Amino acid sequence: MAYAKRCIVTGGAGFIGSALVRHLMRETAATVLVVDKLTYAGNLESLKEAGVQPWSAPDAPSDAVGGGEAPEPPSRCQFLQADICDADAMMAAFDIFQPDTVFHLAAESHVDRSIDGPGEFIRTNVVGTATLLQAALAYWRNLPDGEGVAPNPQRPTTNDQLPTKASFRFQHISTDEVYGSLGETGFFTEHTPYSPHSPYSASKAASDHLVRAWHDTYGLPTLITNCSNNYGPYHFPEKLIPLIILNCLDGKPLPVYGKGANVRDWLYVDDHVAALRLVNEKGVPGETYNVGGHNERTNLEVVKTVCAILDELRPRESGRYEELITYVADRPGHDLRYAIDPTKLMEGLGWRPQENFETGIRKTVEWYLANDWWWKPIREKKYAGDRLGKLKG
Ligand code: NAD
Repeated sequence: MAYAKRCIVTGGAGFIGSALVRHLMRETAATVLVVDKLTYAGNLESLKEAGVQPWSAPDAPSDAVGGGEAPEPPSRCQFLQADICDADAMMAAFDIFQPDTVFHLAAESHVDRSIDGPGEFIRTNVVGTATLLQAALAYWRNLPDGEGVAPNPQRPTTNDQLPTKASFRFQHISTDEVYGSLGETGFFTEHTPYSPHSPYSASKAASDHLVRAWHDTYGLPTLITNCSNNYGPYHFPEKLIPLIILNCLDGKPLPVYGKGANVRDWLYVDDHVAALRLVNEKGVPGETYNVGGHNERTNLEVVKTVCAILDELRPRESGRYEELITYVADRPGHDLRYAIDPTKLMEGLGWRPQENFETGIRKTVEWYLANDWWWKPIREKKYAGDRLGKLKG
C-alpha cells in the first residue's frame, strides 16, 4: 500500500530532514508538516524542490504558525517555524495537524560547535526532545484504541483517518557517536553500551534514553535509529565533505585534524532516508536499529578522494587539489573510529544501501559543482569555513 501518512518532521529544513522531506514528496503520498526553528543550519531553500509552503492550519494559534497566505490547493509539504522547546507550539502542532507519525531530527548537530557552546546542545537535544515527547504523549493518549486507523470526519485530506494508539509512531533519529570510540576492530551493535565523549554525543545519548523511557514508562510507540556519518547534497558546509569541496573550489587550505587517521563509516544521505522510512513502516515499537553501509574511510582518504574527483571534473589552473591539504591541531576528545553493524536492519527489515562510498561521493561532488545557488549565500553570509571547536587558552 502507498505510504500516505501525515508526518511531522522536526528539523526538516536541515541536511537529513530535508532529504527525508524531499523523498516523502517525491516518492510517497505523505502529507508533511516541517517543524523547524531555522537555526544557522536550517534552510528553506533545501525544501524548494519539495514545494514547501507556510502551514495553513485554519485554527492554529497565530503565534505558532508561519506567516503568509497559502495558495489553493495547499501543498502536501507545509512549514511551521517553531522551537521544539516551546511546549505550547508543539502541543498545537500535534492537536491541529493530527500526525500519524513524527520523525524527530531537530538537533544541534556539529561536534565542534558543541565544544564551543554546549548549552544550546543540552537545550535543544535534551530539553527539546523531552518537550516533544510530552506533546506527543498527550496527543497519543487521546487517540482511539485498537489497531490500524479510525474514521475521522475532521480530517478531510487524502488520508482522512485518525491513527490509533497502536499505529502511531514517534521516531527518534540519532547517531552512532553515542557508542563512543572503537579500536582498530569491531563494530557498534544495538547492544553496545553507551559511552559518549563530546557534548554533542552526550546530549544525543541523553535524548535516546529519554525516548526509551517514554516507551518503557508510558507505552508511547517509539523507534530509534542510530546512524553513521552521512554525506550528500544540501549538507551545511561546516561538515568535512562539503567544507573540503568548497575550500578546493575557493583555493583555500583543506584542514585535516591531527594526522587524518580518524575513521568514519560514511553513508549517502538518501540511503539513510530509505532506512528511516523502512523503520517507520516495519520497525517494532520500542526497538533500536543501527544504520550504516560498511564504508569505513579515514578522514585523509575522504579528503584525497574529493581532491581526485575534482582534479578530474574541475582541474586547478596549476597543480593538484591535494597540495592544499593542511594538518591542523586535532579536535579535543576526537573519537578514533566509528563503524556500524547494520545486520538487524538488513536481515530484519531488508534494508540495502544503493550507494557505496565511491558512487555516493562522486554524486555529491557533482551536486556541489552544479548547485552554487544553494551554497554560495551560505559561504558568503553564514559560514566561510573558519575553524571551530578548539579549546581556548
Ligand atoms: P542539521 O544541523 O543539518 O539540521 C538540524 C535542523 O534542526 C536544522 O534545520 C535546525 O534549524 C533545526 N533545529 C535546531 N534546533 C532546533 C530547535 N530547538 N527547534 C526546532 N528546530 C531546530 O542536522 P542533520 O545533520 O540533518 O542531523 C539531523 C539529525 O540526525 C540530528 O538529530 C543528528 O543528531 C542526527 N544524525 C546526523 C548524522 C549526520 O551525519 N549528519 C548522522 C547520524 C544522525
